[in-house]
Amino acid sequence: MYLWAVLTNRCPRCREGKIYTTENAYDLKNNMKMHEKCIVCGQVTEIEVGFYYGTSYVSYALTVAYSVATFIAWWVILGFSLYDNSIIYWLIFNGVTLVLLQPYFMRLSRSLWLSWFVKYDPNWKNKQANDYERIVKEHMNNW
Ligand SMILES: [Zn+2]
Repeated sequence: MYLWAVLTNRCPRCREGKIYTTENAYDLKNNMKMHEKCIVCGQVTEIEVGFYYGTSYVSYALTVAYSVATFIAWWVILGFSLYDNSIIYWLIFNGVTLVLLQPYFMRLSRSLWLSWFVKYDPNWKNKQANDYERIVKEHMNNW
């Protein structure tokens, strides 16, 4: 399932191999290290140089979506009032949880990003993964 594969940081092509070398998002030294190729199907994880540059926009969008979600949840469950500190409490809660979730969001945004460029191949077991390096080189030779 697409969503499950993205949420668990799996290769979008086979939806089995993990793209990160560590499972632990809070191992801050290693949490962004990726396998060069999917260990299950051989899909290249960095399709081109600087491939993940755009993920800062994705993690920004995740941050905004999360803040909207906590705002609505707080509003429904606890309510907001202009006559108490409820908005400040929400701001503190949202800020603290965002900082705590940041490593998870950063990993998730790469996982999402890769899934938009690499399609699921139900037949991955019988087919070789695309060799992007070769494609990039051929492309450059034609220049
Ligand atoms: Zn794979």
